[in-house]
Amino acid sequence: MSPIELNKRQEDILIIVKENGPITGEQIAERLHLTRSTLRPDLAILTMAGFLDARPRVGYFYSGKKTGQAVTDSMMKMKVKDFQSIPVVVNENMTVYDAICQMFLEDVGTLFVVDKNAYLTGVLSRKDLLRTSLGQQDLNKIPVHIIMTRMPNITYCFKNDSLIHAAKKLIDKQIDALPIVKEHTDGYEVIGRLTKTNITGAFLSLAENHDL
Ligand code: ADP
Repeated sequence: MSPIELNKRQEDILIIVKENGPITGEQIAERLHLTRSTLRPDLAILTMAGFLDARPRVGYFYSGKKTGQAVTDSMMKMKVKDFQSIPVVVNENMTVYDAICQMFLEDVGTLFVVDKNAYLTGVLSRKDLLRTSLGQQDLNKIPVHIIMTRMPNITYCFKNDSLIHAAKKLIDKQIDALPIVKEHTDGYEVIGRLTKTNITGAFLSLAENHDL
C-alpha cells in the first residue's frame, strides 16, 4: 500500500469537510470558488482512498482515516505497558537443564534471571542455552548464573517508556526481549517482558482500521 500524496486542493477539501461535514459537493465548490465539475476528480480520489465517505442526499463527511501525521502521533503515544507480556523469571541457581525445560514449558524465547530478593541479575536467550548444550558438560550441574548475560550489561525498559524507544533498544542491541523493570533503591524488580512479537502486535494495531 503506497502512501497517497494529496495535492493542495485535496488537502483544502479535507479541511472543509472535517469542519463542516456532512457537506454537499456543491457547497464545497462554493467555498473554494470553483465549479462542482472541477472538484469532481478530487472528490473521487478522496472517496476512493477512504478519506471521505459520500452518502446520497446527505453529502460528504470525513471518514476519520488517518493521515501520515496522525499515524505517527499514535505511534508516539504507544506505551510499553500497553503491549507488554508476562515475564518468565528463574532463579540464578536453576540448572541449565531446568532452564531449557522452563523455556519450553512457558513457551518463551527469553528467561530473566533473578536473585533471592527477586531482583534482576541476568538474561538467558535460546542461543545461550543452545551454546551450553553443545559442550560436553552435564547440564544438570551448571547453574544459569554461569552462562547468563549479567547486570550491568542488561538492557531494560520501564512500563511508561514509549514503545518506539523500547523498539529502538531491541534493534540497536540486536536482542529479542527487554525486561520491564521497576526501580527500587537496591535493585530492579522484573514486572514485565517486551519482545519483538509485542512490537509486531503494536505495528498491526496501527492498521486496525483497515481491512487486511
Ligand atoms: P538469541 O541469542 O536466541 O538469538 P537474543 O538475540 O535475544 O537471542 O540474545 C542475544 C544475546 O544477547 C544473548 O547472549 C543474550 O543473553 C543477550 N541478551 C538478550 N536480551 C538481552 C537484554 N535485554 N539485555 C542484554 N543482553 C541481552
